[in-house]
Amino acid sequence: MGAGRFAPSPSGPLHIGNLRTAILAWLFARSTGRDFYLRIEDLDRVRAGAEAVQLDELEQLGLDFDGGLIRQSDRLPVYLEIANELKARGLVYECFCSRKDIAEAASAPHAAPGAYPGTCRNLSDEQRAQKSLERPAALRLRAEVNEFSVHDELFGSYTGMVDDFVLIRNDGAPAYNLAVVVDDAASGIDQVVRGDDLLSSAPRQAYLAQLLGYEIPSYAHVPLALNEKGQRLAKRDGAVTLEEITEQGVHPAEVRSFLLESLGLPGENLQAALKAFNPSSLPREPWVVKPENIVQQLMPPASNNR
Ligand code: GLU
Repeated sequence: MGAGRFAPSPSGPLHIGNLRTAILAWLFARSTGRDFYLRIEDLDRVRAGAEAVQLDELEQLGLDFDGGLIRQSDRLPVYLEIANELKARGLVYECFCSRKDIAEAASAPHAAPGAYPGTCRNLSDEQRAQKSLERPAALRLRAEVNEFSVHDELFGSYTGMVDDFVLIRNDGAPAYNLAVVVDDAASGIDQVVRGDDLLSSAPRQAYLAQLLGYEIPSYAHVPLALNEKGQRLAKRDGAVTLEEITEQGVHPAEVRSFLLESLGLPGENLQAALKAFNPSSLPREPWVVKPENIVQQLMPPASNNR
C-alpha cells in the first residue's frame, strides 16, 4: 500500500505555511490510498514543549495519522548501525574540517558551489592521527557520483548535486540526511511530500537510499509560504501560527478552509478537499501571505459580536 508522512522539526509552533504543507502531505497520501505517518525530527533544533504544540495544531486541523508517533531521538542506535554498515563497505571517511575550513576550501577557484570540497577525503593515517588531536571527527559519505536525478511530481525530473555529505556529526549526532533516509525506508514510506526548500536535498537522499538498497520514494516538493518581501514566513511577520490566529477569535476550521482555498480546493472540510484533490492543478508558485489579512478576512465582523 505504501505510506506518506509529515516530519516536522519541533523547533516551535507550526506556522500556516507548515500547516499547509502538512495538509498537502495528507492529501497526497490519502488520495492515493496510502497510510500517513507523523515523525518528529528531534535530533536537533528542539524547543521544549514544541512537539506537544505541533501535535495539537495538527489535530485541530483534523489531520489523522496512522500508527504511533515516530521520534528520531528514539532511534539513535539504528542510525549508528547504518553508518557502521556504510563504514564497513568503505563508504565513509572521517572529516575534521570546521565550518571555516570548509568555507575557505570551498571558495577555491574550481570548487563546486555548496559542495564539501573533499579536504579530508584522502588523508594519510598520519594526517588523520594529527588532525584527530585537534577536533573530533564527523563521518562523511564517500560519494561516488557528483549528481543524481530524482523525479518530482511537481518539478518533473530534477538533477542536483551530491557531495560527500555528513552522516554523523562531530558531536556524534546522526545528520538529517541519514536519519530521513533510514526512517523513510524503515516505515515503508514511498511518498515524500514536503516544502520545496528541500528539493535540493532530494538527490543526496535518493542516492543514499540507493546505496543502502532502499526503494527511492516518489517526491513532491510543494511551494513554501513567503512574506511580501519573498522571505520565508516567520515569527517576525505577525500572527502566523494557528494559536496566534485562533486567539483572535478565528476558529481552526476557518483557518483550514483558508488554507484549502489557497490551494484551489473546496474549503468545507478535508473530505471535500480530498475528493477534489488533483496534484496537477496545484499552484506552483510560492504562497505569498500577509498575516494581518488572514485574521481580518476570517474574523467575524466586530460589530456583530457585541
Ligand atoms: N524536518 C524537516 C523540516 O521540518 C522536514 C524533513 C523532511 O520532510 O524530509 O524542515
